[in-house]
Amino acid sequence: MNAWICTTCGTQFSPSDSAPERCPICEDERQYIGRGGQKWTTLELMKADGYKNSYYEHEPNLIGIETVPEFAIGQNAKLIRTSEGNVLWDCISYIDDVTVDLIRGLGGIKFISISHPHFYSSMVEWAERFDARIYLHARDKQWVMRPSDRIEFWDRPQFSLTSEVTLVHVGGHFAGSTVLHWKTGADGRGVLLTGDTVSVSADPRWVSFMYSFPNRIPLSERAIDRIISRLEPLSFDRLYGTQFDSVVESDAKGAVMRSADRYIRALNRQDDR
Ligand SMILES: [Zn+2]
Ligand SMILES: [Zn+2]
Repeated sequence: MNAWICTTCGTQFSPSDSAPERCPICEDERQYIGRGGQKWTTLELMKADGYKNSYYEHEPNLIGIETVPEFAIGQNAKLIRTSEGNVLWDCISYIDDVTVDLIRGLGGIKFISISHPHFYSSMVEWAERFDARIYLHARDKQWVMRPSDRIEFWDRPQFSLTSEVTLVHVGGHFAGSTVLHWKTGADGRGVLLTGDTVSVSADPRWVSFMYSFPNRIPLSERAIDRIISRLEPLSFDRLYGTQFDSVVESDAKGAVMRSADRYIRALNRQDDR
């Protein structure tokens, strides 16, 4: 039996003899089926194809991890090192022995938490290799393609993993979309890790919010209002999105507030722009 991985979205499914017929995450209107149709791989095949993970130190105690060459939608995970155990924020499909050895050397992984289903990837594989627990928002339970008793679903506005790390439910892109607030990041000024729940724009003084990024479907004003009401009480100066270089280095809270205003103005504009 193989735990098959969808090559378009990177989601690993429960082990089965033959590849699944369909990928519900790619069939959803927020994603897409790859141009060549539905295709599958496995961790063994990825290893044989020469995939590797690479690492990037964003700031002390925050390390980005991504797969090269780029796989699926180019997901990126982030390891936050804390005195109460390390947190893996978001996840990627590829994991190998070198990845496990290197991360063990950094203290391993105690908690895995994921912004939304596009980053569920091989989360159960990662949890098993590191003997970690996975924390997902309950409103996205239907998108788990490999159930496991390592997964815990939480369902409230906030959920603290450690004294430094709190998950905050904001919704929007997915009903259960979550961001992670790291109180002691950015030299104590606070960090927000967002996946693509809040996405860093090409101009990194700005962020954006979307229901679907690949299919370019915006969110409603009501969804933006709720996201902002959940972020407003948090103090953070820096924001990390999905990629190594998607970072708002400073005044990130200001950037989020200005960007939400701009987004809502654009939604309500009555002219031809
Ligand atoms: Zn898929
Ligand atoms: Zn997404």
